[in-house]
Amino acid sequence: MSPATCMRPEDRSRIAASLAALGIERGYSYPWHRAEEPFRVLLAEYLLRRTTRKVVARVYERVLSRYPSAAALATARDEDLWAVAREAGLRRRTLQLIEIARQIVQQGGVQPSRERLLDLPFVGPYIADAVLLYSFNERVFPLDNNVQRVLYRVMQGTHPPKSMDPYRDKALEQIADVLTKNLDAVRLRHLHQGILVVAWEVCRAAPICRACTLRTLCLYSTQSDVPASLR
Ligand code: SF4
Repeated sequence: MSPATCMRPEDRSRIAASLAALGIERGYSYPWHRAEEPFRVLLAEYLLRRTTRKVVARVYERVLSRYPSAAALATARDEDLWAVAREAGLRRRTLQLIEIARQIVQQGGVQPSRERLLDLPFVGPYIADAVLLYSFNERVFPLDNNVQRVLYRVMQGTHPPKSMDPYRDKALEQIADVLTKNLDAVRLRHLHQGILVVAWEVCRAAPICRACTLRTLCLYSTQSDVPASLR
């Protein structure tokens, strides 16, 4: 049995509550986290795959002011989209947005279905789950390397396995299930935001546990073999 499943229910609840409180207090810092319109969430998550959040924040606003809907983007010319989205880099990937938008139009809009979202070209499970959680209030939990890193450390006291796709990681699925059990979609969003805040600010490759809200709850931090300078 893993440390996460052995953890006392009250400890799991305290971890979930701390992360959700942090999410409410300091999360939702990018415009797409508050955008309920599914096309906007999908656009941002697609751009975020290979580009930094700060750059995406700028490109996202520029693309939306020129193409405010999937229907508008579906009719874009390559050169016009590239002119507003060039800063995101990766021309071919950026122009694939036009193809995604055309498929969305063919589907009659972004659909509240994981299967239909995954039918869209270049859309993987993280983007699909982010759209379902943030736009459609579905009880799903998007898993990426940030979530994987934080949850392994907090709930298992270990680093995640190297190069393991979060969506193929059965242990991560189990940890996330334990932590998210009984939470509704609103609380899942707060929890997800809290994990992202921790991942971005302190729980990086070299964690800064002494500055982390979770330091007294996190198994990694409370284990004796963590260097004192990091605790
Ligand atoms: S206490 Fe340390 S290892 Fe645990 S979540 Fe915070 S930064 Fe990461």
